Amino acid sequence: MKWPGNAKCVVLLTFDLDAELMWYNNYPHTPGYISRGQYGVTVGVPRILPLLKKYDIPATFFVPGANAEKYPGVVKSFHAEGHEVGHHGYLHEYVSKLEKDKEREMFQRGMDAIEKTIGKRPQGFRSPAGDFSENTLDFFEEFEFLYDSSLMGDDFNPYPLTNFNPHSRIVEIPFAWELDDAPYFQFLFSPYRSGLSSPTHVFEIWSSEFEGAYEQGGVFTLTMHPQIIGRVHRMQLLERLIRFIKDHPNVWFTTASNVASLCREEWDKKAG
Ligand SMILES: [Zn+2]
Repeated sequence: MKWPGNAKCVVLLTFDLDAELMWYNNYPHTPGYISRGQYGVTVGVPRILPLLKKYDIPATFFVPGANAEKYPGVVKSFHAEGHEVGHHGYLHEYVSKLEKDKEREMFQRGMDAIEKTIGKRPQGFRSPAGDFSENTLDFFEEFEFLYDSSLMGDDFNPYPLTNFNPHSRIVEIPFAWELDDAPYFQFLFSPYRSGLSSPTHVFEIWSSEFEGAYEQGGVFTLTMHPQIIGRVHRMQLLERLIRFIKDHPNVWFTTASNVASLCREEWDKKAG
């Protein structure tokens, strides 16, 4: 894939604004969990936006529709500062567990809430929990989405979602648990005690992955959550990683929809 401006590699910084809904599916609706979600909005986002501005980086925020309704000012500020806002369900529901009609209803609600908040329809989807149902692809087609970023069929190369529908033109921008802040940092009592990794340990993994993407001329997609990456020591990690990436010549930081548009153009040209 040829990138604009002689870029050798593309970097997508993506943030999922799950807020309280992070805990909606599997955890009690108690003040402890609710406050962890709120931290993302009240502490995490006000740290992330200035960092992106400092390095002039456009990012992609995936937002559940209910959070666009609950925090319209925050979601409007993403759009106003030049970031993309993508679809992340309505209530952060696990779509693979829903009946088709219910999934369609939630998909539509999520989309409408974002459109109402920023005046623009989302073009891309990231599924809560990195999975979707056999019907989800139909909704992408029906609502004219450009891309998805939930599946893990490649590391740095976007690919067409034709293995589910041979005629699909949806661009899959691969997601990876290895490039997600949650498995490393998010402390959970159950189902497994984990998280609280050292930023040095995660820097080692993320910077090696970036070097792989750079060598291959691919797309390095990092997935973060304001309530996780927003802690001070992790923001320091993110800044260190941004500087490390910027030390490499010809890296293009952009939004997921920009990458998807270019991929689709290229594939359409090839298809004649
Ligand atoms: Zn999420």
